[in-house]
Amino acid sequence: MRVIGLKCRNCGKEYKTLPINICEECFGPLEVKYDYEEIKENISKEKIQKAEPTLWRYRDFLPVEDQNKIVDLKAGFTPLHKADNLAEVLGLKELYLKNDSVNTTFSFKDRVVSVAISKAIEFGFDTVACASTGNLANSVAAHAAKAKLNCYIFIPKNLSRGKIIPTLAYDPNLIAVDSNYDDVNRLCTEISSYYDWAFVNINLRPYYSEGSKTLGFEVVEQLGWEVPERYIAPVGSGSLLTKIHKGLKELEITGLIDEVNTKVTAAQSEGCSPVTTSFRTGEAIKPVKPNTIEQSLAIGNPADGFYAVKLIKETGGTAGTANDEEIIEGIKLLAKTEGIFTETAGGVVIGTLKNLVEAGEIDKDEKTVVYITGNGLKTQDVLVNRLTEPQVISPDLEEFNKLLKKEAVIW
Ligand SMILES: *Cc1c(COP(=O)(O)O)cnc(C)c1O
Repeated sequence: MRVIGLKCRNCGKEYKTLPINICEECFGPLEVKYDYEEIKENISKEKIQKAEPTLWRYRDFLPVEDQNKIVDLKAGFTPLHKADNLAEVLGLKELYLKNDSVNTTFSFKDRVVSVAISKAIEFGFDTVACASTGNLANSVAAHAAKAKLNCYIFIPKNLSRGKIIPTLAYDPNLIAVDSNYDDVNRLCTEISSYYDWAFVNINLRPYYSEGSKTLGFEVVEQLGWEVPERYIAPVGSGSLLTKIHKGLKELEITGLIDEVNTKVTAAQSEGCSPVTTSFRTGEAIKPVKPNTIEQSLAIGNPADGFYAVKLIKETGGTAGTANDEEIIEGIKLLAKTEGIFTETAGGVVIGTLKNLVEAGEIDKDEKTVVYITGNGLKTQDVLVNRLTEPQVISPDLEEFNKLLKKEAVIW
């Protein structure tokens, strides 16, 4: 078996492959443990490159054993863009954008959800659920519909319509809790001990989080099996940031690439930045109450925050923030320079990158990859009154000429 079981990241205690996420000894988070020797014997670059262009081309590194149980909405293998225009504005030499905003439900969450729901079916669950800041709700509802599973989704009540409507379209049971995400998550943890449901980001979290590794695998493949010198990713719970690096290390362990020396860099919104603050002060993570226009990352008590800070330090990376104004400017800058319209989480990454470059915290010569994890169509509300409005004319050539202040050319 490729999957040996689960292992506590804190104390190392091992468990069978079960729908559990917390160590009963020390309350540390559980993680999937693989037999890398077996994976190494079965994997090759050629095999990967011949497989389908979805995240499942990396199935050898994912914790689903029964290939017939895979729920695949064809997420993953999203484009990697060389971002020369943005690089020029920021004064960087070699910049790439991993555009995960074009997945099936328009965020990177389709990766983690495809893995978690496939595993839920393998475990025999008939009901899936999640606590969501928005994008997870979209993705769980879509995959549950495709898999014909019952679905319960819990969100904070004040979530923007741009996240709620694309969830409701799939017709799940949507429960809006009158509080913030951290309370939603705590409530769901309680519910999960009363109902035999697969909460993708709670009791299935060890499997769910493995899906984020594919964002590391794909970038390496798309760079011609080269490792980036730095990557910068948005941080909510910290799972995405840390699992991308786990993916890079697994390519190293299985001999597909040489040594990984990638500096891991975290981006948070200033109004919810427990990971960046802990990195900067050297103190333990202090939970915060989010106060920001950025909703996708609004987790005040990040489950993987400790491991995110540790990884940033170990790899010689850094962490930064962008405030609300800089988030909006980040969204606009990316759209204007690279033709990619991202949501507020992408604004956080671009704004943070800009701030870190200006502060001299990022070496301008490094081959850097920026993770764009969600689509701008979902957070249009933050741009209301922030863009140049259309110029209105009647259907009349003269009026258009006046607007251009030009005479029409007579042929
Ligand atoms: C959920 C989310 C993240 C953060 O993921 P974590 O694994 O919780 O850190 C980043 N970007 C977008 C768009 C998201 O929806």
